[in-house]
Amino acid sequence: MIFLNDSYMKEFQAPIKIVDGDKVVTADSCFYAQSGGQPGDKGIIEINGKKFNVINTIKHELGIAHVCDQPLEITSGEVLGTIDWNHRFRLMRMHTTMHLLCAALPFFVTGGSIGLEKSRIDFDLGEETFEYKTLNTIINEFIQQAHPISYQWITNEELDQQPELVRTLSVKPPRTSNKIRLVKIGTIDLQPCGGTHVANTKEIEEFKFIKYESKGKMNKRIQFTLS
Ligand SMILES: [Zn+2]
Repeated sequence: MIFLNDSYMKEFQAPIKIVDGDKVVTADSCFYAQSGGQPGDKGIIEINGKKFNVINTIKHELGIAHVCDQPLEITSGEVLGTIDWNHRFRLMRMHTTMHLLCAALPFFVTGGSIGLEKSRIDFDLGEETFEYKTLNTIINEFIQQAHPISYQWITNEELDQQPELVRTLSVKPPRTSNKIRLVKIGTIDLQPCGGTHVANTKEIEEFKFIKYESKGKMNKRIQFTLS
């Protein structure tokens, strides 16, 4: 998928695979399909000179479905898609911040949800405790250290040999093609992930801790936002 190889690509062109009511499906897209707690992309698609608003993007058995705000009469043609970049870039900054929280808290992740206004991540701390107020200092230091984000691909077998790389208990990395993407944030975080990330932690700018809540033994929830 394009978004796995280049999260900064804002436009794409591809033929229609199928139109299903309000969904325009293409085999590939630079639009991110909702997954792993990250919302799908919004934007505009143009087909045969007509523009349609994309209000969400989801996975489809034939590729990526761009969900429009109205049903389409069109059945074939070339799709020119443009991402709502402000929406996507803020989600990329939020998503990358989730990795920084994983670097700060060396515990299993039991849940998470990324939003435009605020995001949350749950950890299983077991018997451990954590001084959550220190997160503002820790995460903003990570951001200022300007860690570059890079990618590596490994096989299922290679991942099985390094089970410590998997931080999430609820979302397992997709294993459909025997190729798993590892996301590396400088020297501080390395884990399989199919989401979209900024190229450097500096792009996150400023982390703001909102609150901590205990949602049960295995779910210690951190809410945060960005400036
Ligand atoms: Zn990620």
